[in-house]
Amino acid sequence: MRKVFRLDVKDIVPTGEEVLQYQGMAGRKNLPEKISRLLYTAIDLFGQLADPRGLFEDLDIPDFEALYAGKGLNAADGPVPGIVPRAEAVALFAATMGEALAAKAGNLFKEKEAALGFMLDAVNSAGAERLGRLMCHKFLERLPEESTRERNVRVQYYCPGHCGWHISGQEKLFERLRPEEIGITLRPNWVMEPFKSISGILVAGDIEIHRFSPGFSFCPHCREKKCIQRLRILEQEPG
Ligand code: SF4
Repeated sequence: MRKVFRLDVKDIVPTGEEVLQYQGMAGRKNLPEKISRLLYTAIDLFGQLADPRGLFEDLDIPDFEALYAGKGLNAADGPVPGIVPRAEAVALFAATMGEALAAKAGNLFKEKEAALGFMLDAVNSAGAERLGRLMCHKFLERLPEESTRERNVRVQYYCPGHCGWHISGQEKLFERLRPEEIGITLRPNWVMEPFKSISGILVAGDIEIHRFSPGFSFCPHCREKKCIQRLRILEQEPG
C-alpha cells in the first residue's frame, strides 16, 4: 500500500519548549524578552509557511536487508538491523515541510537576520521531529486491527544518516520510494531538498523491540541521543 498525504500544519507546529531544546536552552525559565520575541516570531513564520506533505509505502520485511545494505558503507553495528526482523510491519516513508519554509530560513541569513534565522532553524528541527511522529501515527492508523489489538504495538522511525545507517542509504530508499512525488529530491551528497525533510523506515511492533541500549561503536560521538528522547515519547503514547 502506498499513501500520500497533505498534512495539517497545526499538527506539527512545535511548542516553545520543544524549540528551546534545539537551542540548548531546555527547561530555561525567565527567557530574555529578545529571545522570547524571536522564538514566537519564528513559530509564527513556521505556522504561515509550512506546507507539510508525507508518503509511506509498505515494505516486505525480508526486503529490508538488501535495502539497508545500500552502498556497503554502514557501521558494522547498529540498532536497525536487529529491530526490523522483529517487527509486525514496516514501511518506507518521506515527509517534508515544503520549499517556502526552507527558502525563508536561508533568506533570513542573507538578509542579515541571523538571530531569527537560527531560531527558525531550531523551530524547523523541532517541527521535523513532530513530522516524524505524525508519520508514525499515520502508519499505525492504517495497520489492520488484528495486528494491533492484543499487542502493545507502537511505531518508531529510523533514518539513514543516523545510528550506523550511512546517509548513502538514501539512494536505495529514493529508488524504491520515489518521494519526488511530494517534492523531495536528493542531492549527489545524499542530502534531501527541501532542507529538513525526513525519510527512512517506519517500524511497527511491540514496544519492546524499540528498546535498546545506546552502546554501539558510534554512540560516544552522538551528542543528541535522540534514541532516548524518542523512546520516552513512545512510552507516553497510548498503545
Ligand atoms: S546514542 Fe545516538 S547514535 Fe547511539 S543509538 Fe542513540 S541516537 Fe543513535
